[in-house]
Amino acid sequence: MSKPVVARFCPSPTGNPHVGMARTALFSWAFARHHGGRFVFRIEDTDAARDSEESYDLLVDVMRWLGLDWDEGVEVGGPNGPYRQSERMDIYADVAQRLLDAGLAYKAYDTEAELAERREAARAAGKPSGYDGLHRDLTPEQQAGYEAEGRQPVVRFKMPAKDWTFNDLVRGEITFGAENVQDFVIVRANGQPLYTLTNPTDDALMGITHVLRGEDLLSSTPRQIALYEAFAQIGVGDGSTPEFGHLPYVMGEGNRKLSKRDPESNLLGYRDGGFLPEGLLNYLALLGWAIADDRDVFSLAEMVEAFDISRVNPNPARFDAKKCEAINGDHVRLLAPEDLATRLIPYYAAVGIDVSEAGLAPVVPLIQERMAVLTEAPAMTRFLFVDDVSIPAELALDDAGRDVVRAAHGALDALGEWTTESIEGSLRGALIDELGLKPRLAFGPVRVAVTGSRISPPLFESLEILGRDKTLSRLAAALAG
Ligand code: GLU
Repeated sequence: MSKPVVARFCPSPTGNPHVGMARTALFSWAFARHHGGRFVFRIEDTDAARDSEESYDLLVDVMRWLGLDWDEGVEVGGPNGPYRQSERMDIYADVAQRLLDAGLAYKAYDTEAELAERREAARAAGKPSGYDGLHRDLTPEQQAGYEAEGRQPVVRFKMPAKDWTFNDLVRGEITFGAENVQDFVIVRANGQPLYTLTNPTDDALMGITHVLRGEDLLSSTPRQIALYEAFAQIGVGDGSTPEFGHLPYVMGEGNRKLSKRDPESNLLGYRDGGFLPEGLLNYLALLGWAIADDRDVFSLAEMVEAFDISRVNPNPARFDAKKCEAINGDHVRLLAPEDLATRLIPYYAAVGIDVSEAGLAPVVPLIQERMAVLTEAPAMTRFLFVDDVSIPAELALDDAGRDVVRAAHGALDALGEWTTESIEGSLRGALIDELGLKPRLAFGPVRVAVTGSRISPPLFESLEILGRDKTLSRLAAALAG
């Protein structure tokens, strides 16, 4: 590649950040990093009615949480700022005016009703229903006449009448016929510039060389390429056109497009639900890309090293929440235990358990293999950090259970050294050898009495961590209950 790569992520801050956005950000970021280029994070907030500050903050937070760092953009600044479109309105007004002055765009005065009527007629005649170019060549007198009527014009870009062919980095050569790309609005009647103008203007001024984005934007590409050609004539940017790559759709349940509103699409849900950023990113990478045929767990660094946009699969990718969790579990197991402990602390705090890294150190080995998401840890080990547990009614001990717990209490009360091995030895002796019970019947009631649940991390290790006093008092409480 001749020029250094500059890629970008430029979401609109509406609603909660979603999975599709993160996939786009990841692929763009990995592309920039793979080529040793720059990554720009811009915010496209030109729609005051839909954009929100809250959504902006969430986008910044989630990008930081994911660890997709940017060289230029919001919060960090850079040579081509500002990086929020709401702060660049004078730039768009200037570009629109220069397009008008150069005859590359024009004012169109059609009313909504007139447009609808002509669209209908075109449709009935089997013709393309886009703008018919009626106000392309108005005389100054005609314009003055409409203005005198009080009509406010939109600005339309004059599409050159030709076919548009480009080489999509993911899909290969794509052609849009001239008849399918009509003159389009770049500035609303109220003066508000539209995405159609602001996005290519900023890509040009920010020196973006590669645009990677979702397939839903494919139809805007011929228009944007036409704008770049116009920009070259009026000196906006360096006169070049970026390359485009359109990432596959992400499908949800029932083979329909994953929507922003689907619960599994909410990115914050993954953070709050205990996903590791590296686990989630690994899964998102699989939505269209593979590192190798026989391997689907990898680090971000490995992705950067291997990422090849031409190997992205253009076919729709299916979002599989179970697989996403399983991949996260693989990353949990890859963490150093101390690292896992550090990352677990906020999830304990979130359920009101105040624990330190030192306090978690003995617990981590019991649970690291057993969880897919971090929120499972406090759920599984709550009994270790609270004073008392309550036993749900359906697990209340029957007479046989009481006999077991009584025998366990006696044996453990008499135990000298309190270690996993000594606890195991004494319980096996008292319950299996002396009472002649099968392991499940022997240890089940002890587990329920001590943890309040039928499922727990390994029992003997857990009792060692819980300590002698709490263990004995819980066994006693279960007998009294
Ligand atoms: N703001 C646009 C969006 O969120 C960006 C589209 C693009 O990447 O060109 O859809």
